[in-house]
Amino acid sequence: MAFIKRQLADAKRAMPSVVIAGAGLVGALNACFFAQKGWDVSVYEFRRDIRTMKHVQGRSINLALSQRGKSALEAVGLKEYIVNQGVPLYARLIHNKDGKTYNRQPYGKPGEHIVSINRRHLNEVMITQAEKSPNVKFFFEHKVKSVDYDKKQLVVQCTSQPSRIPQFGSKSPPAEHEEFHVDADLILACDGAYSAVRRSLMTIPRFDFSQEYIEHGYVELNIMANNNEFAFEENVFHLWPRGHFTLIALANRDKTFTVTIFAPFTEFEKHMSTTEDVLSFFEENFPDAYQLLGKEHIADTFNRVKPQSLVSIKCSPHSFFDNLVLMGDAAHAMVPFYGQGMNCGFEDCLVFSETLEEQGNDIANAVQVYSERRVNDAHTINDLAMYNYEELKDLVNRNSYKLRKKFDSIMNSMFPKSWIPLYSMVTFTRIPYSEVIERRKKQDKILSSLLTTTSTFALIGAAIGIYLNRGKLGF
Ligand SMILES: Cc1cc2nc3c(=O)[nH]c(=O)nc-3n(C[C@H](O)[C@H](O)[C@H](O)COP(=O)(O)OP(=O)(O)OC[C@H]3O[C@@H](n4cnc5c(N)ncnc54)[C@H](O)[C@@H]3O)c2cc1C
Repeated sequence: MAFIKRQLADAKRAMPSVVIAGAGLVGALNACFFAQKGWDVSVYEFRRDIRTMKHVQGRSINLALSQRGKSALEAVGLKEYIVNQGVPLYARLIHNKDGKTYNRQPYGKPGEHIVSINRRHLNEVMITQAEKSPNVKFFFEHKVKSVDYDKKQLVVQCTSQPSRIPQFGSKSPPAEHEEFHVDADLILACDGAYSAVRRSLMTIPRFDFSQEYIEHGYVELNIMANNNEFAFEENVFHLWPRGHFTLIALANRDKTFTVTIFAPFTEFEKHMSTTEDVLSFFEENFPDAYQLLGKEHIADTFNRVKPQSLVSIKCSPHSFFDNLVLMGDAAHAMVPFYGQGMNCGFEDCLVFSETLEEQGNDIANAVQVYSERRVNDAHTINDLAMYNYEELKDLVNRNSYKLRKKFDSIMNSMFPKSWIPLYSMVTFTRIPYSEVIERRKKQDKILSSLLTTTSTFALIGAAIGIYLNRGKLGF
């Protein structure tokens, strides 16, 4: 018996340790992955535990979950539960400016859909799931300050009252504001777009970094339930594309809609800075949404809330030393127009887990291979997200866009494996993003040679027609 106990203790001691910076969406999911592997997991999160907070400040209230995110959630046993808590969206519903007519554009084949999920709920479920393992500890109100290069450790500062700090093993808790070093076999930086870990790596030679704030910002509003029913159709992504600005609405399980306006900051300043202006702007451009949002709510929101900025970040590599990886927005914050930021971050966790297994849990190798695999994919989806804004605010209304969508869907029904529309490859498959763009380029090439051939045939046909009718035409 004593022998077995000793063996179990040895096995436990032999498990590697991972420290995670940030308990947001990607950090919490990583905690679930490593809890499952039986590693010693400690997560340091700047905020208080969101499960104890009344209001959580931050970004979008809801998010669109698609295949990459679902696959990652499935790997930790959470997919079914999370998907059942969401609202499926099967198509875009484009609202015309008259406020009365619509244009429906299905996302993919019948049944294919994305899911509108509540951000806070998703985050809470993952933290709770990870915490079920005795080897996982979350340290809230702990700010990651930097990385100590020499020791390959995280430097963390405790910002909470000592009474709220959980005990971990035999270590005594740090005092308030005390800085301390955290040692682990693996460090995962999931501390978001303004990552402190990434910032402290900036002076490392050959670390490439770029960031771009786009000229657009966003403001979120709400449409309340109407007699405990959805105010309009819930299973679609509502879209009001108006050229250089756009409005979207996604349903929530409580029968409300989260409505977001994206517009250039100059537009907010010019047309939405007084109550009178913002009301007439909404009434003119989004008449049906204006009715449902209500004057008071629009006026109140714009009095209280300033437009939030949107940033796109690329960096390379994503791994450092032989034990540190940047993941999620810390590695690749992107503009939200493809609904892929979280999905890509979730796929990071899955790809890293797969890579670790493939490398026989050799951390140094896995870290390097992961970065080689992931950087190109991250850059590609960053660019695609930028491109998709053009689509959302304008292109969806154009005939050329609709024609291409039709053509892609016909080709897809004839060649289901080899001709998958761009949106479907990104949203409904796990084809690596960099391969998605290669496939799309091939499709474009085929299409343009088809068009050239068709127009050549059309020209030859027209010439023969003219020749045969030359008498009648007076040639
Ligand atoms: C308006 C909008 C809509 C979006 N819609 C979608 C969508 O529909 N689908 C989709 O896939 N994606 C969407 N996204 C993108 C998505 O929100 C992000 O990609 C996702 O939140 C990234 O998760 P993350 O965990 O990497 O970062 P975050 O969610 O930012 O989490 C980072 C965590 O780290 C903590 N932290 C920060 N600094 C420190 C520190 N120094 N020490 C300790 N902890 C720290 C933070 O408190 C936070 O908890 C949207 C984004 C926006 C802005």
